[in-house]
Amino acid sequence: MSKTIAIIGAGMAGLSCAMKLKARGLNPVLFDKGRGPGGRMATRRAHIGTGEASFDHGAQYFTARDPRFAKAVEGWRSAGYAAPWPAAGEDAYVGTPGMNAPIKQMAQFFNIVWGKRIDGVLHDEHTWHLRAGDTIFRAQQLVCAIPAEQAAELLEREAPDFAAQATAVQSKPCWALMARFADRLDLADTFRGEAVAWAARNSAKPGRGEGEDWVIHASPEWSAEHLELDKDTAAPKLLAAFFAEAGITLQQPLHSDAHRWRYAMVGKADGAAALWDPQLALGVCGDWLAGPRVENAFLSGLELAALMTE
Ligand code: FAD
Repeated sequence: MSKTIAIIGAGMAGLSCAMKLKARGLNPVLFDKGRGPGGRMATRRAHIGTGEASFDHGAQYFTARDPRFAKAVEGWRSAGYAAPWPAAGEDAYVGTPGMNAPIKQMAQFFNIVWGKRIDGVLHDEHTWHLRAGDTIFRAQQLVCAIPAEQAAELLEREAPDFAAQATAVQSKPCWALMARFADRLDLADTFRGEAVAWAARNSAKPGRGEGEDWVIHASPEWSAEHLELDKDTAAPKLLAAFFAEAGITLQQPLHSDAHRWRYAMVGKADGAAALWDPQLALGVCGDWLAGPRVENAFLSGLELAALMTE
């Protein structure tokens, strides 16, 4: 009988690992603290008046340079889960109708326990015990596909070497503002400033709605400086910085919300793209091992599945 495998984290890395394990006849179970599919490729929906808006408040677009990822993107594209978005670059793609669409597509093949934060792991001779509050899940092999800071904490006791590698990584934060305006802003679909590292007319992405919806990302420096503000204080500050840098008259949004990504982006990675300890039956993957993009997270997951099954 094949071994039972638990994957903590159903973002791009965890799911690409799961897809490859499945292609090799294995059937992992995934756990994710989020309420639904996305991870950092998240899409937030909001009710505004009688209508609905959606905002991609994490990753904005992805590129596909490695042929293995390009093949996956082509599959999503032909099935309607992704489309090119030239406003972000000639080789840029977005999920459709939201950034989380490729994650949703992959998630449908697996048993995923959503809304469960794994807060401790223990390994005895043949079994991993995963604790989520009062509930314990068991598996013979464990994959940790979560951001570095969270992996460091979770693995500190059972895998100090892997935890030390994760501790060495420092992710940069990002405050994200999601806003709908009544009137069209006199700007192109994307904007880059200083305090505002990136802003995009979300509604200009393929397959979105009609409203004048923007996602505004603060730079890592601005985000770090304002990290501990509550979102209702951070939002108007970031809004003011956006209008000042864009050089247009401030328009109060009809709707606005902010999200603080504490661990948004990692730096360049130069070691192994995934880690596997056959004695412990423990694997680790994620963008922090492979590089700061969606594509890197995907490749890290693939790499880990190859190590586990070779
Ligand atoms: P994640 O997507 O973070 O997935 C990890 C999952 O683990 C999450 O779903 C989380 O809920 C879950 N989790 C964490 N801890 C636990 C726990 N203890 N128990 C259970 N579940 C847990 N990349 C690009 O290519 N282009 C961009 O334009 C871009 N812009 C970005 C902008 C922002 C604001 C952010 C935040 C990221 C951006 N990125 C971008 C980076 C990209 O989103 C990531 O590299 C990629 O999504 C990482 O995938 P992952 O699977 O490694 O991690």
